[in-house]
Amino acid sequence: MELSFIMIKPDGVQRGLVGEIISRFERKGFILKALKFLQIEKSFAEKHYEDLAGKPFFDGLVEYVTSGPVVAMVWCGNGVVLTGRKMLGATKPADSAPGTIRGDFAVDVGRNVIHGSDSVESAQKEIALWFPDGITEWRSSLHSWIYE
Ligand code: UDP
Ligand code: MG
Repeated sequence: MELSFIMIKPDGVQRGLVGEIISRFERKGFILKALKFLQIEKSFAEKHYEDLAGKPFFDGLVEYVTSGPVVAMVWCGNGVVLTGRKMLGATKPADSAPGTIRGDFAVDVGRNVIHGSDSVESAQKEIALWFPDGITEWRSSLHSWIYE
């Protein structure tokens, strides 16, 4: 089944949004497959965001995501990449609909609380980068209550 990499950024951690965000993914019916709490280094952040190297906001973005601990997770479920992006809301919080994470909890694009993979392919790359030892395989006993 499909996997997505979701990361609560340092502002989300500092603002006490970890439980709220995890709850949203759990209540939706997505299944947690990996989770860790860590502060990343500059070189790791540059690797994670390598596609954005050269953008005017790149240095500020790297400084932001390395400024404190983050919560890195892998969530599993049908359509989790696209649905996860919808749950996050648009990149710019001014464009994120109320009811989305960024729409409810963020104001500034440079402090937008959360990262989510934008395609199945980037999810695979990001999961390999953040969880090189692999993820925990398990089957939730709720499976048949979430899927027909
Ligand atoms: N970002 C920013 N200014 C911008 C665009 C993006 O600070 O004008 C930051 C923002 O934190 C965003 C991250 O860079 O979440 C990655 O940008 P991307 O376009 O990949 O947005 P995302 O996939 O996070 O929605
Ligand atoms: Mg992105």
